[in-house]
Amino acid sequence: MKGTLSLRRSSADLSLQPLSVLRGVGPQLTAKLAQFGLATLQDLLFHLPLRYIDRTKVSPIGGLQPNSEVVIEGEVRAADVVFGRRRSLVCRLQDSSGVVTLRFFHFNRAQQAQLVAGTRLRCFGEVRRGSAGLELYHPEYRIAAGAEPLPLEERLTPIYPASEGITQLRLRDLCSQALERVSRAERDQHSLAELLPAELLPETSSRYSLLAALQLLHHPPANTDQGRLAAGEHPAQQRLVVEELIAHQLSMLKLRARVQSYNAPALKEAGELCNQFIGSLPFPLTAAQRRVSEEIGADLTAAKPMLRLLQGDVGAGKTVVAALAALQAIGAGYQAALMAPTEILAEQHRDTLTSWLTPLGIKVGWLSGKQKGKAREMQLAAVADGSAQLVVGTHALFQDEVVFAKLALTVIDEQHRFGVEQRLTLRRKGHAGSVPHQLIMTATPIPRTLAMSAYADLDCSVIDQLPPGRTPVETLALAEQRRSDVMQRVRAACNEGRQAYWVCTLIEESESLAAQAAEATAAELQLQLPELRVALVHGRLKPREKSEIMAQFKAGEINLLVATTVIEVGVDVPNASLMIIENAERLGLSQLHQLRGRVGRGSAVSHCVLLYAPPLGRIASERLRTMRATNDGFAIAEKDLQLRGPGELLGTRQTGDLQLRIADLQRDGHLLPGARQSAEQLFSQAPERVEALLVRWLGDRDQYADA
Ligand code: ADP
Ligand code: MG
Repeated sequence: MKGTLSLRRSSADLSLQPLSVLRGVGPQLTAKLAQFGLATLQDLLFHLPLRYIDRTKVSPIGGLQPNSEVVIEGEVRAADVVFGRRRSLVCRLQDSSGVVTLRFFHFNRAQQAQLVAGTRLRCFGEVRRGSAGLELYHPEYRIAAGAEPLPLEERLTPIYPASEGITQLRLRDLCSQALERVSRAERDQHSLAELLPAELLPETSSRYSLLAALQLLHHPPANTDQGRLAAGEHPAQQRLVVEELIAHQLSMLKLRARVQSYNAPALKEAGELCNQFIGSLPFPLTAAQRRVSEEIGADLTAAKPMLRLLQGDVGAGKTVVAALAALQAIGAGYQAALMAPTEILAEQHRDTLTSWLTPLGIKVGWLSGKQKGKAREMQLAAVADGSAQLVVGTHALFQDEVVFAKLALTVIDEQHRFGVEQRLTLRRKGHAGSVPHQLIMTATPIPRTLAMSAYADLDCSVIDQLPPGRTPVETLALAEQRRSDVMQRVRAACNEGRQAYWVCTLIEESESLAAQAAEATAAELQLQLPELRVALVHGRLKPREKSEIMAQFKAGEINLLVATTVIEVGVDVPNASLMIIENAERLGLSQLHQLRGRVGRGSAVSHCVLLYAPPLGRIASERLRTMRATNDGFAIAEKDLQLRGPGELLGTRQTGDLQLRIADLQRDGHLLPGARQSAEQLFSQAPERVEALLVRWLGDRDQYADA
């Protein structure tokens, strides 16, 4: 393998030449292209079309379909200026198969003189459904004079991702020039390095050299299978997809190697302390909790930083596992930090952990963004002198003035809200040249394909078992006309001594509008259900008010809690057995699943009612059906990936990490395991190829430079 993998690159690698070698590229354009991430010929060659239009053949007018881009040819039958809502020039163009309307809103006298009955035209444009049947608005057109037919394109026309100041025409010209240069050079020297050994390519694709694949994708011949091309399944595309996935895996392997090159405190297992803790819990650990705790415990004993993702469905009992990890750090004389994404969740962790750990003589510190003055100073001091052994908090833990005496472990709850960058920031809080271990916990199960890509730098543990005695939540979807029935359900549940959540959602992201809606709903519910104690919690309340209400709800003093989606994560009230989600059609699957996870924590059968406003769109009804069909977070996550795609699933923050140019995780996910293997092989055996692949596919986006 070693022999075949070593890379011969000509010193004058043409593809790495700057774009200024191309005709028409001066300093100004160079700068614009650079802003767009295009600096070398190679960058341009890998700037692939988004789609293609077909100008290789003339379509019969009689067979036109709306929403297609076509070339047509015919004779103008009539042309009139029409004074409708807007003045327009309307031409009827006819060929032997049919007639279609061309409509121009902007036109001048010369055009009006040209477009008269009897003129033969060749047009290109998009067919739409208009008031007078099928129409082309502002088509490009040429007059077909004389007997010679107008020439047609021989290849499909690429449409590139473009940006301000860089037009399609310009990109087409530059890409053609770049291809031509590289192909010309191909004959005498190797100018576009094949970085993947043939044995790493899928069989169907290996008949395309890299250059041939790029040529096809920039300039597909007229007979190219357009269906496969549009679906991204052409072998030439797959040739590149595999290479891109490998490059992406390599970047993750590199990140991981860099992380592992740091030192971390080796934490001996805290046998006695842990046993004491486990013995003090009112329940035994589940087998899954024990297993993942052992995995984590073993990582922590190493002098390399742990980087581990802990997945476990809502209610699986991740907090206990986090506490055990923290105890290992504390037992070894270090500090641990636990960070949560919201104030409510952080407070809840603070309370749980304080009640668990204080009896063991451990001091729990607290840092939140809202904390001010003396209280804050005291907390900061306790963190800095090490007397706070476990520090719980929100993003406030990231701030510069937070200095730990001896931090050995950070636990991040609900990872999907933090990006890679953020999780790297906490690492800088280590001490004496060492980096803390990291445990990242998520209740949003991550589909395998995503875990293998966005999270490929992490090890993974899964709690695949719920604590015993939980009964699955029964879910039903009801149209909002049934609202008063639903209120009766709430009444019945509360009369039996149980509690309920009523969640209000809004399309607008504005927390203040959501709060208003929730206020109105709470008032209405209180009116309809006068005998119940109804309370309201939303993101605009002061943290103190919020936690007071949560505490009252937990203590059973409130029957019905009306809330915005702030209760999404972490709230733990086992006596609550009914969850109503209003406008459920507006929420994504993972959010619905998270919300539903607030109930079903006790032994009573719990219900979740998804109230929706009909009519439901396809995706919304698919989501509600999925929610009714399963409680399994992993099945839901897979469905979510299918319905939304990886970008949305990860949240905007993390899509940056996944800027795939041509690969598509849904379509190409099956190629990931192979890509992973190939990447490992290359990483250990051909480091110079690794660098070249990273430059080619990720450019100089060395996103994790300070990892
Ligand atoms: P999540 O994984 O969603 O963070 P939590 O850690 O909040 O779950 O645990 C949910 C509830 O289950 C808590 O009330 C917790 O005390 C309880 N719990 C955790 N582990 C067990 C167990 N092994 N047996 C019974 N209850 C448990
Ligand atoms: Mg939790």
